[in-house]
Amino acid sequence: MSASATDLIHHSYVPPSSFEAPQPGVFKASTVFFPNVAAMRARDWKGKGGYTYGLHGTPTTFLLEERLAALEGGRQCLLAPSGLAAIAVVALSLLSRGDEVLIPDNAYGPNKALAAGELANYGITHRFYDAMDPADLAARISERTRLVWIEAPGSVTMEFPDLPALVAACRARGVACALDNTWGAGLAFNPFDLVGDGQGVDISVHALTKYPSGGGDVLMGSVVTRDEALHLKLKLTHMRLGLGVGANDAEALLRSLPSVHLRYAAHDRAARTLATWLGEREEIAQVLHPALPGSPGHAHWQTLCGASDLAAGLFSVVFDGRYTVEAVDRFCDSLRLFKLGYSWGGPVSLVVPYDIGLMRDPGITRWPHKGTLVRFSVGLECVEDLQADLAQALAKL
Ligand SMILES: *Cc1c(COP(=O)(O)O)cnc(C)c1O
Repeated sequence: MSASATDLIHHSYVPPSSFEAPQPGVFKASTVFFPNVAAMRARDWKGKGGYTYGLHGTPTTFLLEERLAALEGGRQCLLAPSGLAAIAVVALSLLSRGDEVLIPDNAYGPNKALAAGELANYGITHRFYDAMDPADLAARISERTRLVWIEAPGSVTMEFPDLPALVAACRARGVACALDNTWGAGLAFNPFDLVGDGQGVDISVHALTKYPSGGGDVLMGSVVTRDEALHLKLKLTHMRLGLGVGANDAEALLRSLPSVHLRYAAHDRAARTLATWLGEREEIAQVLHPALPGSPGHAHWQTLCGASDLAAGLFSVVFDGRYTVEAVDRFCDSLRLFKLGYSWGGPVSLVVPYDIGLMRDPGITRWPHKGTLVRFSVGLECVEDLQADLAQALAKL
């Protein structure tokens, strides 16, 4: 006789629990069973003492949260379905009607778009500031400022700010300071201990989509903190918004995380080789790579990241003004190994041309360059092959 439907669900066999292997098991759940009603009534969503519902944590997500908190030098972590969702959790948790958020003029574009869209609709105002001028930030902090975003380096244009000075400006006014730490990835510097005195940001947001994933195949974000009360405030918003991550995606992250140091350093080495080489080409007016002398904020990178000597695999170049947008488009289209695509941190090298004029508020900072900007994300291919690819595409300009 075949097993009944009940037997297929409530089967008596239980595998031995002492299974240990390099990669942790994947736990998938919406429902989590409680042993009795008293345990159900006593459920606690705040900590990691037990499980209440799949959305609020499983062994798989708890493990990933703890490892990511450790990666960034924090104590608590929340997982969001994308880096942008992690940014949104922070904004929606800390801001309400009448409040203001300050965002660097060179910040990750969708963070600015969230402020101009949903936040504005909810009666939350935003202002941009010049990330390279801490006095400009200090002057813009008002009674209504509840959150300041910082980012190092600036998205696309790669200026490296004086992070300790920006954090000090926030601390002086008691305003929460959140860092988009996707570039630093917890590897280039410790966001919670910026100058070696235990002082740092309040919140570090990380698009795990980039280096921690490393595959170009997972979208996820994290919100890491060191303060329990702040974490619980963020966690409440995170719960109310119903944000969860899939167990298979968490598993992919857990598999990639042990090699993130190696991959990050390899991306970094190759990017510095190519950026240095491009800087010597007469077609290029300026290389924007914080670890290279002559790039805006290089001295700040040196101070903050000199000890790690790490700088990610990302850089931009500004073409000489004599090249038209069409010529630079032709360069990008001629690349074979570098693919046209957004995001970064995966094995495949990527390229994107940008029109910075459209991305800046001319009242805050003036973009000084005439030529077209192209951003490269260097993957894990042989650097000699990538250089040859750049050379043949430069010849098509
Ligand atoms: C990619 C990125 C994000 C957003 O990550 P997604 O997972 O793509 O939403 C946020 N900040 C920075 C600096 C990024 O590069």
